[in-house]
Amino acid sequence: MHNISHSLRIGFLMLIWLLSSCSTTQIVTPKIVAPVKAKNVILLIGDGMGLTQISAGTYANSNRSNFERMPVVGIHKPYASNKLITDSAAGATAFACGQKTYNGAIAVDRDTMPIGTILEEAELRGLSSGLISTSSITHATPASFIAHNKYRKNMEEIADDFLDTEIDFFVGGGRKHFDSRENDDRDLLAELRSKGYVMSSYFEEELVDMSVDSSKNFGYFTSSEEPLRQMDGRTYLPDAVDKSLNFLPNHDTGGFFLMIEGSQIDWGGHANNIDWVISEWKEFDGVIGQVLDWAEQDGETLVVITADHETGGLAIQPDSKMDSISAAFTSDYHTGAMIPVFAYGPGSEAFGGIYENTAIYDKMREAYGWNKIGLPK
Ligand code: MG
Ligand code: ZN
Repeated sequence: MHNISHSLRIGFLMLIWLLSSCSTTQIVTPKIVAPVKAKNVILLIGDGMGLTQISAGTYANSNRSNFERMPVVGIHKPYASNKLITDSAAGATAFACGQKTYNGAIAVDRDTMPIGTILEEAELRGLSSGLISTSSITHATPASFIAHNKYRKNMEEIADDFLDTEIDFFVGGGRKHFDSRENDDRDLLAELRSKGYVMSSYFEEELVDMSVDSSKNFGYFTSSEEPLRQMDGRTYLPDAVDKSLNFLPNHDTGGFFLMIEGSQIDWGGHANNIDWVISEWKEFDGVIGQVLDWAEQDGETLVVITADHETGGLAIQPDSKMDSISAAFTSDYHTGAMIPVFAYGPGSEAFGGIYENTAIYDKMREAYGWNKIGLPK
């Protein structure tokens, strides 16, 4: 009896409280915020850049980096379909196509069948597209966004695929795969020009001195084979990024997809050369600053920074000091550590957490607001 009357009293008090709260306070419905879509996506890949490379670079740079401007941080699992330790081809294909594949695969699946890339889809949807690298433009990372090949070393076949997708802007090395070929006499530079491209190279003029016409497609080769190391005088990466950020928004007004690769962080790791790693990383960090300055002004751009894998099994040794890194390497190849992902801008919230490398593709597409199924591939 006592219990029942007590319950009734509580119930009555709650009713009074509910009535009074309804009558005296405004009912606040939770704001349903429509997800803000990204008009542009800029994907920055530091090849071979694990957390230790980022740490070493930051400490060697007086404890400062532009990575610290990225509000969202996540982690991806970089393994390939056939090996725990991925290579750059399978790693970039995961970002470009959203599928795990075998090491050596350039935007083909485990059965060597071509699979559509986010850059190709951007073109089909009427966006502009761009690729910038500090390796050959036919090297595994950039190639996986535009070419389809069962094996990464088929550089001339990869170059052929630049004729199949109307990429709007590209800068990188490897001109010989286009114009002094071993397997045939084709001149892909002439073929690209006949398709309306402005094609140039360091043989003719410095990129920094060029005024790039945003109404025409643009390709520029920085070397015949592989570009120099930054510490041996290579300077074009910031210039290429600067040109691309003037070009792409004006080429098509519907948005763009741009991939920028700091290719040689990986090569420094393979060579177990910490100076090479850090100098390439510092240049890459500078480019992140450039991109973020631009994206902050733009307000409609998702910026994603990650790596395909770590290279070298780099460790920062106990005798290291700020601005003076003592390094040790455990391998001259890639290692299997999970890899950090940094995101800024519309759609960036989705990049927190731990996920497969293939999820980066899905999250970029979701940021654009593209439907799940996508275009026919
Ligand atoms: Mg690469
Ligand atoms: Zn590598």
